Amino acid sequence: MSKALAADRTVAVIGAGTMGAGIAQVAAQAGHPVRLFDAVDGAVARGIEGVAAQLDGRVAKGKLDAAARDAILNRLQPAASLADLGDASLVIEAIVEDVSVKQQVFGELEGLCGADTILATNTSSLSVTAIAAGLTRPQNLVGMHFFNPAPVLKLVEIVSGLATNPAVADTVFSTAEAWGKVPVHARNTPGFIVNRVARPFYAETLNLLEQQVADAATLDALMRECGGFRMGPCQLMDLIGQDVNARVTTTVFHAFHGDARYRPSLVQRELVDAGRLGRKSGLGFYGYG
Ligand code: NAD
Repeated sequence: MSKALAADRTVAVIGAGTMGAGIAQVAAQAGHPVRLFDAVDGAVARGIEGVAAQLDGRVAKGKLDAAARDAILNRLQPAASLADLGDASLVIEAIVEDVSVKQQVFGELEGLCGADTILATNTSSLSVTAIAAGLTRPQNLVGMHFFNPAPVLKLVEIVSGLATNPAVADTVFSTAEAWGKVPVHARNTPGFIVNRVARPFYAETLNLLEQQVADAATLDALMRECGGFRMGPCQLMDLIGQDVNARVTTTVFHAFHGDARYRPSLVQRELVDAGRLGRKSGLGFYGYG
């Protein structure tokens, strides 16, 4: 039985966007010193501001005391470059969903981190085996797939690629549990578990929109009120990011040799082309003030 990473070990998170900032918050809440890095100027500061706002909301509701909020924020430190992440015991990557960019970042990290450092990818759908290919220590790389919003949703898919050392997968499994999450082991396959099951749900919604059967608000209301879903599919795509959702669909479609069930949507491509990415850009199916 593997043990969770001790709370005094440093966790690094790369990518301070929708997922990275939330994952950094989860690790800091669990007591780890956390370093957050992003390639874009200002992104880390925006990510930490978002975490502070989320924690302030919990303080205002009496769910967290102010001293605990301050301690969490103190543990969450910006990093100026990848070289500042060298002493991390666990590095979680949450950057753009592009296999070659992820491979390049992990290749660079291998030269900076210790031989025992666990490298984890938060990819939604890319092959963990492919991301690890070309690394000197592919056995150290594992999928650690959080769901959005990471501080709220408990599920974490722990995805083993062909080379992943089972002890590494067990350590991140135990660590996720220690962070209050509900991890599940999954074999490396396109979309893993949840994103594969969910693909036809999004695809059929987008088909209904394309055929003008009903509008987004109607579809969402029906799925919430009659289907028992907490959010409708269009709201969910806006939350995830239309670009991220479209990339996952495209990856799964190609990985299953063009299976029509996973065909990417023209309606969604229009939104992405227009920059209507959902909540993060202020406009998607809906507007966000
Ligand atoms: P995002 O666009 O909100 O954030 C990505 C961040 O990574 C940006 O701030 C960007 O500047 C930064 N970045 C890009 N390339 C970089 C590089 N080479 N080095 C350092 N930083 C870099 O994206 P997101 O929604 O947070 O998604 C990140 C990852 O998490 C993707 O792999 C995605 O598939 C996965 N994921 C997303 C969701 C979701 O609901 N959005 C859920 C689970 C997993």
